[in-house]
Amino acid sequence: MIVLDLEWNRGYDKTPLDEILQIGAVRLDRPGTRIVDTFNVFIKPQVHRRLNRTAKALPEIDASLTSTLDFPTAYHSFLSWCGGETDFAAWGADDFDTLNQNARYWRLPTLEPQAIYDLQTAFSLTMGTLQNIALWWAVEYCQIPECFSYHNALHDAMYTALTAAWVPEDLLELSARPRWTLRYLMHPYPPQPSHPVGPHPSLRSALNSRAARKGACPLCGEPIWIQSWNFFQPGTYYTDLLCPSHGHFLCRLTLSQREDGHWTGHQGIPDLTQAVLKDYGRAKTGTHYPCRGGSKGRRRYRRRRKDHKHERNDTTQAG
Ligand SMILES: [Zn+2]
Repeated sequence: MIVLDLEWNRGYDKTPLDEILQIGAVRLDRPGTRIVDTFNVFIKPQVHRRLNRTAKALPEIDASLTSTLDFPTAYHSFLSWCGGETDFAAWGADDFDTLNQNARYWRLPTLEPQAIYDLQTAFSLTMGTLQNIALWWAVEYCQIPECFSYHNALHDAMYTALTAAWVPEDLLELSARPRWTLRYLMHPYPPQPSHPVGPHPSLRSALNSRAARKGACPLCGEPIWIQSWNFFQPGTYYTDLLCPSHGHFLCRLTLSQREDGHWTGHQGIPDLTQAVLKDYGRAKTGTHYPCRGGSKGRRRYRRRRKDHKHERNDTTQAG
């Protein structure tokens, strides 16, 4: 595994490039084990004329400004140092985006690892949170001696690599998945039965039906009334269920039209396979169907019935 860290300058001009000033990296036999090799280059900025405040404050900024290396040369030597490595890691997801952004700017091949582990996410999950934890905080927590200054790419790569020893393997694996999927993967649940829906005379009435819209938390059974559906493909819809105690779950509704024109199908919480998460990722960006006559309508109905009762009581008293 290679752990990467970068320092860059965003500049003040209109060129949308986070121009890399330093590439630091360390190589590990396995995550959480000793560092076996290091890589470090300072790169002379050539795109932005001015440094932004963060870049100006870098402890090693002079080493970049006086460097004789341009990005293409530095990048080529980094790629050859990486060799055939397939697994990469960094603190957060920005470094790989920035590296490939610079490669594209210089029309160079991008780095396409088999797996990119986000040790910041993995560490946050280890601490039981989805909020981002700062590298210095993790280093202090792990009581790693702070011998090196931060905001030097090589030092930060070393610190990042050392925190990996605190991360269980399953959480490291999770950190390689797209970040939005984590909220669904944090609370595993047993296989869930699906429930029949329909028949209904129209697709709209099937989507709005009680059986389609009645969800429940797979861990505590808390009823959750579905407010809207995301269209995935003809006959398949997804939605997000939120249990106040257990967080987010996915719910899927499949419908098909019978020969008599009526719609029937099933609704339930699917097993969280990679394929299901990928489908939901697509559905999230697709058409959104708000359900009609939601809980608001029912509340209003109930209130009206109560009012009616009061009226009746009043009449009784009056009589
Ligand atoms: Zn629950």
